[in-house]
Amino acid sequence: MADRDGKIWMDGQLVDWRDAKIHVLTHTLHYGCGAFEGVRAYNTVNGTAIFRLREHTERLFNSAKILRMKIPFTLEQVMQAQLDVVRENKLESCYLRPLVWIGDEKLGVSPKGNKIHLMVAAWAWGAYLGEEGLKRGIRVKTSSYTRHHVNITMTQAKAVSNYSNSILANMEATEDGYDEALLLDSAGFVSEGAGENIFIIKNGVVYTPDLSAGALNGITRNTILAICADLGLKLVEKRITRDEVYIADEAFFTGTAAEVTPIRELDRIEIGIGSRGPITEKIQSAFFDIVNGRNAKYGEWLSKV
Ligand code: PMP
Repeated sequence: MADRDGKIWMDGQLVDWRDAKIHVLTHTLHYGCGAFEGVRAYNTVNGTAIFRLREHTERLFNSAKILRMKIPFTLEQVMQAQLDVVRENKLESCYLRPLVWIGDEKLGVSPKGNKIHLMVAAWAWGAYLGEEGLKRGIRVKTSSYTRHHVNITMTQAKAVSNYSNSILANMEATEDGYDEALLLDSAGFVSEGAGENIFIIKNGVVYTPDLSAGALNGITRNTILAICADLGLKLVEKRITRDEVYIADEAFFTGTAAEVTPIRELDRIEIGIGSRGPITEKIQSAFFDIVNGRNAKYGEWLSKV
């Protein structure tokens, strides 16, 4: 991935993709304190636009705040950087990755005195869990790894360190032949996927874990709340047990990368009809209308590049 044409925004400048490098003594590389975002730009009916750019950028600043890192740029500068990267790389639709990290001035757990850096890269990236997954649903396994307790590395930060937990869970599940992992919180209630929020549907009501289960406050999750209101679907945020997922009528994951991906199986137990359910399909189609600029009500969520 390092060897390709294009530009990456690094500390205020667009640099050649191949030259966007850091030193091996970078603090974040050793101790894992950093924050990042995952953002998507879509080729909408009105041209290329970044979906919910302000919300993603605000979450990046909040993640950095939680991790006691002061980003040396303004929110507006970081929003502009993302627009510039998409334009400069001539991408019609893409995934964007802003990252905040601690520099290489010195090692030792305390990062005091080290510089805070920021970069934004972007590349074309299709359906995270596969096109087939979007249509037919994916197979998920409850992880043997517990999601972070809310008082460990902070679950409302999209913190680099949280992802070693996600990586372990995802590798365990995929090596066992599943598509993705579902993590439970430290009390045993459903939290989230390795990189997705989860929703289930039972008797026409949509349920999702409340954020005290240690799940990230997903921006796609928030978009689904708006879609449910528009479709007249009742939405309840509550504690959910894994067996509630087994006996749900439908289930799906959400995320910037995963978009709206139906779940057809958990732990080899078929959910509902064992394929994308009818309400999931409605929500998914409303989601793709919004991100592709086909729903004027949410035009403000699209920042034209
Ligand atoms: N949970 C985790 C652990 C994630 O990595 C993501 C992806 N950012 C999400 C949930 C979904 O968040 P969003 O919809 O903002 O991408």
